[in-house]
Amino acid sequence: MDFKLSKEQQDIKLAAREFAEGEFPPVAKECDQKEALDMALLEKARELGFVGSYIPEKYGGFGLGFFEKALIVEEFWRIDPGLSQAVISTTFGAEIIIDHASEEQKKKYLTPLVEAKAIMGTAITEPDAGSDVTSAQTTAVRDGDEYVINGSKMFISNATLADYIMVFCKTHPEAPRQRQYSLIMVETDRAGYQANKLKDKLGIRAADCAEVVFKDVRVPTTNLIGREQEGFGQILGLFNRERITVCAQGVGLAQGALEQAIRHIKEREQFGKKIASFQAIRFKVAEMATLIEAGRSLYYRAAWTIDSGQEDHGLIAMAKWYCAQNAVTVAQEALQMHGGYGFFNEYDIARFYRDCKVLEIYEGTKEVEKVIISNNLLGKAK
Ligand SMILES: Cc1cc2nc3c(=O)[nH]c(=O)nc-3n(C[C@H](O)[C@H](O)[C@H](O)COP(=O)(O)OP(=O)(O)OC[C@H]3O[C@@H](n4cnc5c(N)ncnc54)[C@H](O)[C@@H]3O)c2cc1C
Repeated sequence: MDFKLSKEQQDIKLAAREFAEGEFPPVAKECDQKEALDMALLEKARELGFVGSYIPEKYGGFGLGFFEKALIVEEFWRIDPGLSQAVISTTFGAEIIIDHASEEQKKKYLTPLVEAKAIMGTAITEPDAGSDVTSAQTTAVRDGDEYVINGSKMFISNATLADYIMVFCKTHPEAPRQRQYSLIMVETDRAGYQANKLKDKLGIRAADCAEVVFKDVRVPTTNLIGREQEGFGQILGLFNRERITVCAQGVGLAQGALEQAIRHIKEREQFGKKIASFQAIRFKVAEMATLIEAGRSLYYRAAWTIDSGQEDHGLIAMAKWYCAQNAVTVAQEALQMHGGYGFFNEYDIARFYRDCKVLEIYEGTKEVEKVIISNNLLGKAK
């Protein structure tokens, strides 16, 4: 067992760190306030290969593993969670295209994400269907060589910016629940597609999020990704990959929050001493650093199960729950160490504190992760 990163992995991590440290701080606060991504920043990240790093070389990417993607994500989130999410999530769902799409679809949908300026998203959640994805009601009905899509989706990342969105649609309402769904790509310039930006998010405000309405949207049947009725299985594979990304987000955010706290307590004095000299504070720092390292080790192993073809759904759920929870704990303690200063957006820790909460909600809430873990251990509850 070798716990050391390879030379290539160290280089990727360092390059991501240098990019984030150089490019994010000048625009982070403004993007948070304006709730918008800096498009020039996205372009630079794309040119350097940080976007869609896992897309195979044949389609313009670097063909890296999900572990290497996680290394990039961790370094990005250490500096600014909102911008990182906005940049990295522009390929959200490409994992499914890599695994299930036809050769023609791969060229059509993957290459523009890294070589042109395309953005994509994946729409699963609905106003009345969140954790329970198989209660989704958006329908796609075949009409000759087209599907006609009707319904609405909620909290969809990139929906007002995207060129195409992969939509989780009910195509076989008569089938057992998990066989009712198919994934269909919808170009966002099609008649009947409407995305309404959801403003005033608590955190990751630079990242776009919208409600989407489909009103008789017609797409050719060639926009089906993979086979009909396999949508549910396809999104489970996506969740496993994206949960690794969320682990890296959590560890990166926590690392950044800890570093901010350390800087502050080494500078600030009370009772005639640096705050960093009080044992209550020193022990907190020790606990925070340990949580971060434990989360990092756990997610490294969970990511390895994916890249080595031994995907471990239960271990990935454990890592996602744990890294997200640690991020919330560490961000809260780090803000506490800033005292009243941390309560103002002038200090980055205030933004990190707002940004961390989403980690326990998207890609499976913390409760859903525990349902998966406990089902593995106990069988499904009757
Ligand atoms: C910023 C952001 C971006 C997002 N991006 C996307 C996107 O791009 N595409 C997309 O499809 N979705 C996206 N989502 C949606 C996200 O995946 C859902 O919010 C999430 O799955 C939870 O669904 P819900 O919000 O409907 O909550 P609900 O499912 O209604 O859950 C509410 C509460 O009940 C709990 N709960 C539910 N079921 C159980 C259970 N069986 N046992 C115990 N507790 C339970 C939950 O854990 C939660 O605490 C995004 C969300 C956010 C906030």
